[in-house]
Amino acid sequence: MAELPEKKVAFIDWYLAVVDAATLTDKRYAVKGMNVWTPYGFLARRHLDAVMIREIEATGSSPVEFPALIPANEFAKEKEHIKGFDAQVYWVTKGGLSELDIPLVLRPTSETAMYPIFALWVRSHRDLPLNVYQIVNTFRYETKTTRPFLRVREIHFFEEHTCQADEAAADQRVRSNLEAFARMAKAFALPYVAARRPEWDKFPGAAYSIAFDIPVGAGRTLQIGTAHHYRENFSGPYGIRYEDAQGVQRLVHQTTFGLSERLLGAIIAVHGDQKGAVFPTSVAPYEIVIVPIPSAGPGPGPEATATESVERLRRHGRRVHLDAGDERPGAKYYRWELKGVPVRLEIGRREATARTATAVDRLGRKRSVSLDTLERDVDAFLAEFDEALYARALAAFQEAFRVFRTMEELKEFAHVGVVGWCGKEECGHAIEAAVDGGLLGTPESELPLELSTPVACIVCGSGTGIRWALAGRPL
Ligand SMILES: [Zn+2]
Repeated sequence: MAELPEKKVAFIDWYLAVVDAATLTDKRYAVKGMNVWTPYGFLARRHLDAVMIREIEATGSSPVEFPALIPANEFAKEKEHIKGFDAQVYWVTKGGLSELDIPLVLRPTSETAMYPIFALWVRSHRDLPLNVYQIVNTFRYETKTTRPFLRVREIHFFEEHTCQADEAAADQRVRSNLEAFARMAKAFALPYVAARRPEWDKFPGAAYSIAFDIPVGAGRTLQIGTAHHYRENFSGPYGIRYEDAQGVQRLVHQTTFGLSERLLGAIIAVHGDQKGAVFPTSVAPYEIVIVPIPSAGPGPGPEATATESVERLRRHGRRVHLDAGDERPGAKYYRWELKGVPVRLEIGRREATARTATAVDRLGRKRSVSLDTLERDVDAFLAEFDEALYARALAAFQEAFRVFRTMEELKEFAHVGVVGWCGKEECGHAIEAAVDGGLLGTPESELPLELSTPVACIVCGSGTGIRWALAGRPL
């Protein structure tokens, strides 16, 4: 097996090699950017979804599913939105042999599918808030180079859409989304920053957008989710009104919260290393792989002990894979490390006789666990593994940011930049040009840096309206 490219030197090559070697997806499908979910990748996706579902439903959101096709006239109702997506949509123009009277858009996102129906569902203040989400495939005609999970044309997409009574309630919903995302990210062991995107980079049709970004080395960043406040921008054109307690008709304020399979890409990008993928327990297709090491001799065989361990851990609710194939143990260890399984149990004759197993986690830490306390010991080992994985990711995260105080310094750009910004668009664009990337916006979460008050805009030197802003090179 060929060695993986060096992550620090050739990040994208390394990433593509890990995704392939871990058999998470098959990108040989005949349409570029539409990849096949393999059994192993599909399991990871299912566990990723389970975390998102758990956390969003804990905030009072309900699942729905809307159709994939949107009539052209509905799609066109909100002008900024259509402008933002026009170049990215797939069209269905024929039904069988006949041209359709009204062409259909294959959803790139579902505002325009949902909102005509929301206008029927929301009548009175008693119908509010309306908080619903769906996890469906969306389609975008991506013209840049596609990458598994990171940039695809058929996207496994999580989208929450809500209707609120007023602007403050919608602000509150965005806050609640940020908190839900913080809990999800902890489950994925992913440190991130939340940033309010500048006006020129918000979602088409949004009043404001808050995005979540992670650093992926050398000043590059990956956007892994967004929450948007639409105010009345969509409820106006789509006529989503309610009667308030005084009998007055009002437009709802709307929000959305979007995540995708890119989170899986982020997990690989952040946690993976020179041995391959590393999954946090929450997402791992298998949390534990058990490898019996067969040998001839007296007493209980390793296979029987392995089978007992598999059965008990499964009954205990753990996702376990027994690798009893005839390969050498070393080849099996290598493969399961590549595939990112958090914990491996090795059971040889010595372990079987002593009723123990040797547990090794994906970070290389080793300990002996007793079969008497197998479930408890494995639970504890997995929990420690998750903490250690988070600590490793956090250390890299903390090193990824740097304060820049002059445009001259920005030329040396190799960290996510933290800069003083006056808020003017031309200064924002100058920062973007200097880093050959984007102004990610103003932080909405704590940064891993000691920040004194910025004294001036890094571009124009103005000291008024000054704030910290983040600059990066989106991957
Ligand atoms: Zn300025």
